[in-house]
This record gives sequence, structure tokens and C-alpha cells, in this order.
Amino acid sequence: MPDLLRKAVDGERLTFDEGVALFETRDLTALGQAADAVCRRLHPEPYRTYNIDRNINYTNVCAAVCDFCAFYRKSADADAYLLPRETLYQKIEETIALGGDQILLQGGNHPSLKLDWYEDLLRDLKARYPAVNLHAFSASEVWHFHKLNKLPVREVLQRLKAAGMGSLPGGGAEILTDRVRKAITKNKVLTDEWLEVHRTWHQLGGRSTCTMMFGHIETIAERVETLDVLRKLQDETGGFTAFICWTFQPDNTRLKDVSPAGGFEYLRTQAIARLYLDNVANIQSSWVTQGAKIGQLALFFGANDMGSLMIEENVVSKAGTVHYQTLENIRRSITEAGYVPRQRNVFYEYLDTAA
Ligand code: SF4
Repeated sequence: MPDLLRKAVDGERLTFDEGVALFETRDLTALGQAADAVCRRLHPEPYRTYNIDRNINYTNVCAAVCDFCAFYRKSADADAYLLPRETLYQKIEETIALGGDQILLQGGNHPSLKLDWYEDLLRDLKARYPAVNLHAFSASEVWHFHKLNKLPVREVLQRLKAAGMGSLPGGGAEILTDRVRKAITKNKVLTDEWLEVHRTWHQLGGRSTCTMMFGHIETIAERVETLDVLRKLQDETGGFTAFICWTFQPDNTRLKDVSPAGGFEYLRTQAIARLYLDNVANIQSSWVTQGAKIGQLALFFGANDMGSLMIEENVVSKAGTVHYQTLENIRRSITEAGYVPRQRNVFYEYLDTAA
């Protein structure tokens, strides 16, 4: 095994330059073996996990413009929507009936809904479904609430938390460098702002996930820079529960001419993330974008978790690619890989009893 991989397997921290150097290798097998060794060191238990939740995109109206997004609409567009409460209740009740314990509430950055609208929504949902975790509002939305309401980020998050927000999703990170963000997004949270939202949430005692969407206009160094700022924030707060990466899906977006990254690129990037993010405990497979087969292989390239059953997905599917799996398939993927499947919550606590 090359020295750099050995270093990471032995638990030594990789430098930024070493992270970039790892991308020079095309030896996917060696990267996978190293990432798997780290994953097994961090997770020696015979389990691999999944959770059951539902993505509810309460609105597609968005004040930002992202070149990679096929989901957003402007208020006057014929297919702009804001879901009525009754629809939300119905979706949550279906999720509970399927054994789910969480909903991921994300929308566009709605230009006119004020903070009290979101507080009222969270309070209502929490009162009706107290056992359901509200994994709610990406850093992009939270930053937007801060700007629109002219309130400090801390106050926005404190109020959302008091109203029932249970955890903060890691969406809206894409690539955390301002060169990339300014090139492909407009009116959207920048790097330090994304980090500030998560930092503040962690300081308030909250936990969040972190993400990277790659394979568009970023350089390899910018991928490593993204991992680097996440690692630094995790050193500071310890508040990230998991990292998830996926490849950009170009259909129906302004970047439709970008050739989509394949399974090789996905697996090697995830493996390098496992080696680089030595302080993030969990990595989720992105079978939703990669399909069930590559998603299963991800369990041998650093992932210890299959992510969510994802009863509903609206954002990636608008960009052309989305894969669905039954719970049985997810459990079988884990069993075939030699592990026992366990259902967990957002905090990685088991919700079932070991067989
Ligand atoms: S990615 Fe999010 S912030 Fe950007 S346009 Fe789409 S919905 Fe809006």
C-alpha cells in the first residue's frame, strides 16, 4: 500500500497537499482498500445502517439562481408551488406508517415567507407528530431567513430550535469555495456563511450533516478544499454526524453540457473523503444518485451507512437521475455485503434491536 494510504489507515491526518495527491492515483482498488480499512477501524461493529425518512420540499419558489438546479421556480411560474399543510400532514403520516422517524424539510429560498411562518410550521408539525425529527432547512435557507428578516443567524436558529427544528441538513454546500459558488450560484449562501450557520447551530447544541456535490466546474484542489473546511469546522465544534457526497446531475440544468461523472469518480472521491475526514464518524452512500449497485459498492469505499430509504425525492429527480429502492433492497444490499442491517435515527442511534 502506498505510504500516503498507509498513513491514513494508521490514523494519521492527511495534509491538504496529500489530499490533492491522492486524486492523482487511478488505483481505485488501493483507495477502496484504504478507505474500507479506515471505515472498519471506526466501525468495527457487524452492522451497517440506514434510516427511513422523507424529503418534503415544501416549496420550489426560490430567490436564488443556481446553474446546477433544475428544481427551483420563480413565484410567477405556472408550476411554482407552496405545499398546503394538509399535504404535509398526509406525507408525514405516510412516512410514519412506513416506519419512518424523520422528515427532511427543505425548499427554495422563498422570497416572502417570514420567520414566523416557519416557526408556526415547525410548532404545528411538532405538536401533531412529537416523535418525528424535523431535519429542517439547509444553511442556504437559514442564511436567507437571516437576510430577509434582518435578524442575526443565532437568533434565527434559536427561534427555529425552540419551535421544533431537530437537526440541520447539510444541503446547499456543493463546493465550499467562493470561486465556484460565485460562478454557479447567485444570491446564495457563500462559503463562510454556510460554515457560520453550521458553526452556530453546533454551538447551540445542535447536530448537522455535511455534504459535497462534485463533478461540475470545480478543480480537484477545490474538492479537497471543501473537505478541508469541513474538517476544520469539525475540529472546532464536533457537530457533524455524517458526510455525504454525490455527483452533479446535469439534465435540465444550465450546466447540461457538463458530462456527468461516473461510478469511478464517485467511488474514488468518497474513498478519499473517508481518508481525509478523520474526524467525521459516518459516511453515507449516495445510492439515490448512483443507483443501487454502485450505492452498495460504496460500503466498500468508506461508507458505513446507506443513508435514507428516501420515500420521496424531488430535487435530484428534476435533474434527470433518481433511483428508488425498497426497504427490502436496502437491507439486502447490506446483508449481501456481509453486514447486519440496522435502522438508525439522525443521531446514529439504533432504532431497532439487534437480531
Ligand atoms: S439549489 Fe436551492 S438555492 Fe439554488 S436555485 Fe435550487 S432551490 Fe434555489
